Amino acid sequence: MTYRELYEYGVEALKRADIAEAELDARLLLEYVCRTDRNALLVHGERVRSPIEEEFYKIAIDKRRQHIPLQHITGEQEFMGLVFWVNEHTLIPRQDTEILVEEAMRYLGDGMRILDVCTGSGCILLSLLKYSNECEGIGIDISGEALLVARENARRLCLDAVFLCGDLLEPLAGFVSDKTSDRLFDIVISNPPYIPSGVIPTLMPEVKDHEPPAALDGMEDGLYFYRKIAQKAPLYMRSSGLLFFEIGYDQAEAVSGILRENGFGKIEVVKDYAGLDRVIKAELG
Ligand code: GLN
Repeated sequence: MTYRELYEYGVEALKRADIAEAELDARLLLEYVCRTDRNALLVHGERVRSPIEEEFYKIAIDKRRQHIPLQHITGEQEFMGLVFWVNEHTLIPRQDTEILVEEAMRYLGDGMRILDVCTGSGCILLSLLKYSNECEGIGIDISGEALLVARENARRLCLDAVFLCGDLLEPLAGFVSDKTSDRLFDIVISNPPYIPSGVIPTLMPEVKDHEPPAALDGMEDGLYFYRKIAQKAPLYMRSSGLLFFEIGYDQAEAVSGILRENGFGKIEVVKDYAGLDRVIKAELG
């Protein structure tokens, strides 16, 4: 089959399976299989592809028909202009989360110490390290499988970061003995799971059936992880250290309250490109 015939096969198959962006996904999968870019369809559409490419493409389309996320088929997602490896053990980096990273970058200075809680693929911490100088970063996740992905991402991006396995800030216990320690963090950042448990069954199949439930589920009211992190983070932050959270569109007020109760002030809410509350910044002390 020619390149264009394969593309048309893919679009048709994905449309029949009710995949929302059939054209886009068919093209991206074809580019992934044939190692081409978007020009190929215009310029080389009549070129006959090899039987192995045809077979591989049909397998990829078949996976996508089953609502397996595109990024789990290609194994990658771009974030902050960098390519991250992802799999079923990590949340797929979202464009909205770039707002969180960009906001933290406005305050990030050379040589600072950064803590990323619930690091997943490591996309937040590694982007911050990539775009700064001499910073030190620690990422924590409860999933050892996610940390394998984060460590591989650090290797591919030639970055040094320490990834620790454990529940929220637990692996840091004993790490800082007093508040004068030079190991305190300047910046704590997190995009924790924040979807209320009851909402998860209503999400699209790509998310609810294929992304790790533990990366989505913020327990009954969606705020569980904000409470836990806001309670523990001050132990490991220098005074006037900054904390950045990604939040759900309707969580700004509740999360601001949680932060105030735990000794944070100068709370600011930042909106995403859709005009929805997306990021909270707070200062300790
Ligand atoms: N920090 C990771 C990300 O933003 C994982 C977040 C999560 O698992 N909730 O992609």
